[in-house]
Amino acid sequence: MTERVFDASLYRYDRVEPSYWEATAERPTVPSLVQDEAADVAVIGGGYTGLSTALHLARDHGIEAVVLDAGVPAWGASGRNGGLVCIPPAKASIPEMVRRWGRDETAAFYRWAIAGCDLARTLPADEGFDVCAQGDGNLEVADHPSRLAGLVEEAGHLTALTGVPTRILDRAAFAEVGHGGTEQFGGVHVGVGFALHPMAYALGLLGAARRRGVRVYAHSPVVRWDRDGSDHRLVAANGASVRARRVVVAANGWTPDGLHRGLDARVLPAISNILVTRPLGDAELAAESWNTETAIVNARTLLFYYRLLPDRRLLFGARGDTAGTTAAADRMQAWMHRRLGELFPSWAGIEVDYRWRGLVAMTRKRAPSIGAVNDDPSVHYAFGYHAAGVAAAPMAGKTVADAIALGSAAAPVPAVLRGLPARFPMAAMRRLALAGAYLWYGTRDRLQELRHTGAD
Ligand SMILES: Cc1cc2nc3c(=O)[nH]c(=O)nc-3n(C[C@H](O)[C@H](O)[C@H](O)COP(=O)(O)OP(=O)(O)OC[C@H]3O[C@@H](n4cnc5c(N)ncnc54)[C@H](O)[C@@H]3O)c2cc1C
Repeated sequence: MTERVFDASLYRYDRVEPSYWEATAERPTVPSLVQDEAADVAVIGGGYTGLSTALHLARDHGIEAVVLDAGVPAWGASGRNGGLVCIPPAKASIPEMVRRWGRDETAAFYRWAIAGCDLARTLPADEGFDVCAQGDGNLEVADHPSRLAGLVEEAGHLTALTGVPTRILDRAAFAEVGHGGTEQFGGVHVGVGFALHPMAYALGLLGAARRRGVRVYAHSPVVRWDRDGSDHRLVAANGASVRARRVVVAANGWTPDGLHRGLDARVLPAISNILVTRPLGDAELAAESWNTETAIVNARTLLFYYRLLPDRRLLFGARGDTAGTTAAADRMQAWMHRRLGELFPSWAGIEVDYRWRGLVAMTRKRAPSIGAVNDDPSVHYAFGYHAAGVAAAPMAGKTVADAIALGSAAAPVPAVLRGLPARFPMAAMRRLALAGAYLWYGTRDRLQELRHTGAD
């Protein structure tokens, strides 16, 4: 097992990533699996997907689950992300989805994704925990004049398909509700979603699941998967095991090849990086016309995402490198720091107090996948949120739980989500495929800018 795509430094399950979220959350003690146990359902991965699956199984259906994580719960992307509750969890555009799955199924997928945004509000309220909600909807900014038309077109598709309100903002209007800076040429306000403390969401799910009797184990990586008749036996590194009728694989960007043959080479993990600055003062915010707690993404394919945190630090995120070494991360994060100063010149060189990285999961389907393995229907999966899993992954957990408890006829899943993505043909070359994709998208963005300049 455990064929990894990146450098070993990304798979240090023995320690937590030194993020702002770790520094501002209180982790409960979570034991390791030390003896053999049994449950109806065993879940591999203790992030949003796994914790939400287990919570919904126990709370809504009275089905007992055990969750195993290789690190601590929320060790992965669920404890490291930007906290943007947003849609869509896909790289395919609405016209592309309509071509592939039809208009009704595309609309069903979007309704599902929007329900994930709603869940991020209702679940904490129902379960009595706080996720430090901020902002109202999401802002998309044209970082170059050539990109406003594309944003406007996408907003038109979204509103026509879903009824989600979108508001087109010219440069002056964007500065009023968003920010100024050198790479702001108007944008769109999308009236769905908000921003939250991602670790608080994950730990809230953990607490709610444990209150319902879910057993969650940390530092219990599944290293062997045996079959015993119709039962599965998941064996952790220390030899202790969980026997279960069904297994849910909820490892997303950290899914190791060799875990289950049906899932091998389906995921293209990609690194995402985040910097968090020191708190900004009123005058500093005013210098960049910063007026919002709503999260912002720019319109490049290889985008920046950023938001002002409750203590007025700027969180600034971008894609990562393709090697995964700490030296490559240092270089990438230095580049981000420089670019932050280019976007917001009065903050050039600002102190960065936290910086970290994590893995997201891309797939050849360019949309998430939820279901059961064809020739092994007691093995369930949910993954491939394309860097937008804060709303989608807990929703996917609920969807998996309903499918397990009620069956696919009573709990139908939108066609966009059904079925596994194609495998990457040369699994060992995935880092190269990623490098190629970055080169292609970067060049395409640059050409768009040049064409626009030429047309002026
Ligand atoms: C830096 C960064 C920024 C992001 N920003 C945003 C954002 O702002 N908005 C948004 O919507 N999405 C964002 N995302 C994506 C989002 O965080 C993920 O889509 C989501 O957290 C996925 O949740 P998950 O539970 O499926 O996977 P994860 O949270 O990654 O959990 C997978 C778990 O599986 C465990 N695991 C792996 N192998 C094994 C094994 N063999 N045995 C046991 N356990 C195992 C890992 O330890 C890990 O804890 C971001 C991601 C990153 C990395």
